[in-house]
Amino acid sequence: MTTTTTLFERELVESSRLEYSDMINLPFGRVFSDHMFSMEYADGEWKRGKIMPFQDLVISPATMVFHYGQAIFEGMKAFLSPEGEVLLFRPEDNIRRFNVSAERMCMPEVDVDLFKEALMQLVDADRNWVPTDNESSLYIRPFMIATDEFVGVKPSERYTFMIFTCPVGPYYAGSVKVKLERKYTRATPGGTGYAKAAGNYGASLKPTAEAVSEGYQQILWTDAIEHKYIEESGTMNVVFVIDGKVTTPALSDTILRGVTRDSLLKLAEHLGFEVEERRISVDELIAGVKSGAVSEAFGVGTAATMTPISAIGCDGVDVEFAPVEGWKVMPKLARGLDDLRRGNGEDPFGWRVQV
Ligand SMILES: *Cc1c(COP(=O)(O)O)cnc(C)c1O
Repeated sequence: MTTTTTLFERELVESSRLEYSDMINLPFGRVFSDHMFSMEYADGEWKRGKIMPFQDLVISPATMVFHYGQAIFEGMKAFLSPEGEVLLFRPEDNIRRFNVSAERMCMPEVDVDLFKEALMQLVDADRNWVPTDNESSLYIRPFMIATDEFVGVKPSERYTFMIFTCPVGPYYAGSVKVKLERKYTRATPGGTGYAKAAGNYGASLKPTAEAVSEGYQQILWTDAIEHKYIEESGTMNVVFVIDGKVTTPALSDTILRGVTRDSLLKLAEHLGFEVEERRISVDELIAGVKSGAVSEAFGVGTAATMTPISAIGCDGVDVEFAPVEGWKVMPKLARGLDDLRRGNGEDPFGWRVQV
């Protein structure tokens, strides 16, 4: 494509920080690669974007994002295939979801092809930052903030869209105990739960801190109205194996439409599992874990991929699953999804995009 050279401005680093970075013991989200992408919205349009060295921003204290919370983000990963190709996984799905979030927060959408080209060029510029070991990847963080300098509640007229990347190792180690949450809510009908809006995460910190102080690692969110139905776990979608079926709460405006969730359901079907998207009540879940009908439970999302749930804390009593080592379904799905993302074997779904 001839436009790619002129589509964005390019300013590359003179010397890479890569050789000073420990790419073996990678903490999650603390190491940033050399470049970032930045694009400004003003006068009703997106200006020309720029690939530039990763750097701090200088902004006014009156910048609207600090006061009224117009901030959205995405999370995706690039992987190194056995052949040394850099692969993105279903990037268009993240881009479309970003625009859904933008619409909900009264922010301008970004053209899907332009966004994808920015991703490709940025990841290409930092392709040496994609870790080589098969538990690591390059985490990609696109986000948008309101940048008008103005005090007063209204949608901003200016925005900054950016993408930066972090080489990352595994997110959680091992399984988590989750607390069934029946006091706080993550998302309410009519609210912003289906958007990756920054404020959603700010609001989840206190409930999570309380759960942690009680000995849990994460929260199992229930619906806002009755606290009777399961929604998500922490910042992940949640999947159960119930009577051998791969079962997950049906999507609604209080559930984030996870790319991992969708991929896993399609893969499960492909592998011959029965799949159900429906309401799952707390009563069904707790009784099912006790009887053995609910044999596995795990959170699913880009960052951690799949996190097994070892126990659910329900009103102060922990209801425990059989040891993860004996689980049959999750390991199969985890391996299948990992192979799809890392370029091991066929891609019958057409989900991989080579950079
Ligand atoms: C990002 C996110 C997920 C997972 O989405 P993926 O596309 O699979 O990464 C699930 N729930 C919440 C609340 C999220 O923010």
